[in-house]
Amino acid sequence: MVLTINNMLTRVKSAVANFMGGIMAGSSSSDHVNGSDLPLKFPYMRPEFLGLSQDEIECSADHIARPILILKETKRLPWCTGYAEVINAGKSTHNEDQACCDVLTVKKKAGAPSTPSKNPVKRRSSLPNGEGLQLKENSDGDGLTFHYWALFDGHAGSGAAVVASRLLHHHVVEQLQELVDILKNSTVLPPTCYGDDPETSVNSRTLTRAVSLRGAAGAPGSPSAPQTRFFIEKKIMHECLVIGAIEKAFQNMDSLIEKERAMYNISGGCTALGVVCLLGKLYVANAGDSRAIIIRNGEVIQMSTEFTPETERQRLQYLAYMQPHLLGNEFTHLEFPRRVQRKEIGKKMLYRDFNMKGWMYKTIEEEDLKFPLIYGEGKKARVMATIGVTRGLGDHDLKVHDSNIYIKPFLSCTPQVEVYDLLQYEHGADDVLVLATDGLWDVLSNEEVGEAVANFLANCDPDDPHRYTLAAQELVMRARGVLKDRGWRISNDRLGSGDDISVFIIPLMYGNKLS
Ligand code: MG
Repeated sequence: MVLTINNMLTRVKSAVANFMGGIMAGSSSSDHVNGSDLPLKFPYMRPEFLGLSQDEIECSADHIARPILILKETKRLPWCTGYAEVINAGKSTHNEDQACCDVLTVKKKAGAPSTPSKNPVKRRSSLPNGEGLQLKENSDGDGLTFHYWALFDGHAGSGAAVVASRLLHHHVVEQLQELVDILKNSTVLPPTCYGDDPETSVNSRTLTRAVSLRGAAGAPGSPSAPQTRFFIEKKIMHECLVIGAIEKAFQNMDSLIEKERAMYNISGGCTALGVVCLLGKLYVANAGDSRAIIIRNGEVIQMSTEFTPETERQRLQYLAYMQPHLLGNEFTHLEFPRRVQRKEIGKKMLYRDFNMKGWMYKTIEEEDLKFPLIYGEGKKARVMATIGVTRGLGDHDLKVHDSNIYIKPFLSCTPQVEVYDLLQYEHGADDVLVLATDGLWDVLSNEEVGEAVANFLANCDPDDPHRYTLAAQELVMRARGVLKDRGWRISNDRLGSGDDISVFIIPLMYGNKLS
């Protein structure tokens, strides 16, 4: 993810820094943005599971050598998960990507929802050496166990990404606590409502029967018809509750960052891509421009959608149309193919509004001279000339350069959640889920990644648990490339990725053992 200051000089400096592999002075990675003297919520770090010493962390930040870090002890992560990462080519002092992987047990929460306890999670003995890892769900009898992987891509500082990598899974646990009994009883649809009084707990199947009975007795227009309509209700499937829990967890994580930035220096914002494996299903939640794909039998299945100014244009334009004050009288919510010039007032120009996919002509007015809410194409597209990603966590203080216009109202912290039923397929050792930040996807397509992983794993010993980390290393290597005279180069002399790159490779065959 790239955050741009709309300033040509900065862009030139950045380009030079990327080319030279040096560190741009005063880069966006400062953990004391705006001179904040508040303490850090968590210190800058690399993922805990890498087990790096302070010296190793410092060495990993070499923008010229750009060493690829890999998981040394495969058993540190469940399912023999592979992981590799590399720092950027100089756009920020720190690697602003973060990663987390854990196995968590959710205990049933009694009574009504309450504020998060300080220690809601009982960690299992999967870390640091994986011994004692049990693959069966519900192994604690009254709890639910889930597996969790997540990548965060920070911008304008590493604070938000570090905090989210340390806390988002706890918010997921907190949300699932209310659902333990409901999810474990998969033969009964979730109750529509429940409370302390058992009499008020109503099962939707009971209601469905009530609907059919009333429906049979009451023809439309008869006295009983309104009552029938009143009792009609949707059947909510179990997986929708999990999706809702994950969405709420992201929202609560964002609220916590907002609240705690008064006490701590939580700089910048971050994208978040999280995967929860629960009761045989993978829930892939994405808020940002990282991506998840499944490679199964050599075929690629995309499991997430990127959220950028282009993909979310209509949502952003509609918000600006409904609440024009958010534009600070400096931007227009309409989109034009290029900047409108004063001399073009009265002429016709192509434009798009929030309710259009296609283009139409309009007569240019004074109002249209304002800077477009969304401007630029592809990776250069920006919201209010500032940010190139439209979902994520943090960014509560982000403003348009040299103004008092906040960007946050246009950013959503709610992820899109895709579900994959692991139990519908018998997965082989080479069937994997790949999670990576945009540093990988900027230079490699799904097909290139699918082919590279399939070929790599096909040439590895299928019993070597380290093969997934080696495959992740291979992907990072292919995206970073090698340093030549003209900068980082990958195959066919294409430009390598100068961004931070982080990759998880998760073998899916272990998911089949969870049923
Ligand atoms: Mg990135």
